[in-house]
Amino acid sequence: MSDCIFCKIVGGEIPAEVVHRTDRFVAFRDISPKAPIHVLVIPVQHVASITESAALSAEARQEMPVFIAETATILGLDNSGYRVATNHGDDARQAVHHMHWHILGGDLLSESM
Ligand code: 5GP
Ligand code: ZN
Repeated sequence: MSDCIFCKIVGGEIPAEVVHRTDRFVAFRDISPKAPIHVLVIPVQHVASITESAALSAEARQEMPVFIAETATILGLDNSGYRVATNHGDDARQAVHHMHWHILGGDLLSESM
């Protein structure tokens, strides 16, 4: 989508610190980190949120959790632990309407989400 900031990151129009990439997913550091390590995983294909997961290819749906876990391992979080979260809609305060998974770690995280 032409007005989507995360599509622009996929296309290289907006710079981002990419930590992992395949043909179907990109992982990059959050611009405003909420934990010592905070990375976002997005599908290359624009879908608004997890509610549109069915629009992704079967390959992308299969790869998604594997890619997230690979990214966490690349970040060195696989032994210490990490949290994965995604927001949909207003009550979850979703701000960017291109599906993204937050990977949070690098310290003991808060008990509340
Ligand atoms: P949401 O609230 O939609 O789940 O989270 C959106 C996330 O995107 C926020 O954590 C925010 O800091 C991050 N973000 C927003 N704009 C940019 C950007 O231009 N670059 C990067 N790297 N992260 C962004
Ligand atoms: Zn997009």
